[in-house]
Amino acid sequence: MRIASDEPRRFTGQQSHGGRCATATTEVMRIASASSGDHGSGSLGSVALPSALDLAVPTSLPIFNTAAPAPPHLAPPVRRASRRISVGSVPVGGGSPISVQSMTTTPTHDIDATLQQIAALNAAGIDIVRVACPRQEDADALATIAAKSTVPIIADIHFQWKYAMAAIEAGCAGVRINPGNIRKHDKVKLIGDAARERGIPIRIGVNGGSLEDVLLAKHGGVTPEALVESALGEAGLLEEVGFGDTKISVKHSDPWVMIQTYRLLAERCDYPLHLGVTEAGPLKTGVLKSAIGIGTLLAEGIGDTIRVSLSADPVEEVKAGIGILEALHLRERGLDVVSCPSCGRAEVDVYTLAEQVQAALEGIDVPLRVAVMGCVVNGPGEAREADLGVAAGKGKGQILQRGQVLFTVQESDIVETLVHFANEMADEIRAERGQGAPVVVA
Ligand code: SF4
Repeated sequence: MRIASDEPRRFTGQQSHGGRCATATTEVMRIASASSGDHGSGSLGSVALPSALDLAVPTSLPIFNTAAPAPPHLAPPVRRASRRISVGSVPVGGGSPISVQSMTTTPTHDIDATLQQIAALNAAGIDIVRVACPRQEDADALATIAAKSTVPIIADIHFQWKYAMAAIEAGCAGVRINPGNIRKHDKVKLIGDAARERGIPIRIGVNGGSLEDVLLAKHGGVTPEALVESALGEAGLLEEVGFGDTKISVKHSDPWVMIQTYRLLAERCDYPLHLGVTEAGPLKTGVLKSAIGIGTLLAEGIGDTIRVSLSADPVEEVKAGIGILEALHLRERGLDVVSCPSCGRAEVDVYTLAEQVQAALEGIDVPLRVAVMGCVVNGPGEAREADLGVAAGKGKGQILQRGQVLFTVQESDIVETLVHFANEMADEIRAERGQGAPVVVA
């Protein structure tokens, strides 16, 4: 790798950047050698790093530092008060960290395939897994799955009160039912009593497609009021039999209806809420709708556990759910590649650079923000707020680390350089905090 330049640079000005760029005043600053011990051997690949560099460093913007406490404007939303329940080892509600759920797509009675998918979901960072239980053979498989799963299992049951009882007996960490479609009050009581004895919660899941005819007629269709009335009516059936460890979902496929419904429900009860846009669609549109629906509510402090519903591999649901939480500072970030949208000022291929950096750093599991910016006009100001960044231009890239310009490399060396330093920084962070998975913050 060749260092393209160690010449001092000076650049000033207030530049437009799609409305986002800030003013960057600069001064020439002598920085410590990149080979003085901060970066190991002082070489990267085949090229030695310069011993001292005079480079222009923007100074008017705050330096982002992951070790510092989050400033007030980055504080996560204040959460709605809700009662706390426990899904196995995962607390839900009452200020607990917001958990991410998904649902297996394998036939539940295919135990090996189901456990394999649960393992994949676990690797992706899931907190709670739901499995469908439409047949007796699925109910029969629950005991083995619940015993072998590394993640709390919720059995999803419709109509068959016996399957709900089987799921509770099998050691599932929760059941999802609609008491209304169990219909018989004595059976609802049986389920409520058994769940209470085992200390497991019940989720009531109401959605647009399952509304009772009487409510459809009363409200003139699937309205927020109708969904909320249905959900609270169902919860009331459980309260009648003395059961209150209930969480509720009132999903709708239209994010706007879903948002209004959850807002209404949040005002009327203190049950923990399971958020989701139901039937959100395939990956792209589904993630978009879910981010809007779930994200809007979480930003208002509403919601205790979430599921992104996609017509896609459930691992994608988990990734999307975690991404939503990270974006709202409700879960500690892992790798965060920020990249500019590129524009007429860009003199490098920003898209390819960003994708290559993202792909190369995919395994980083500690908070690390890496910025890929397309020009030296506005890039340094943006890159300086990251842990590591490049401000590219004219086929070269100025590498910045925690607010300091290190040196400049050729465009062809940008990815390798960023990956080298990113891995080094990630190792340092791991060593400081002890190796482990990303930490969930309340
Ligand atoms: Fe902003 Fe990127 Fe355009 Fe530079 S190339 S002005 S960083 S969008």
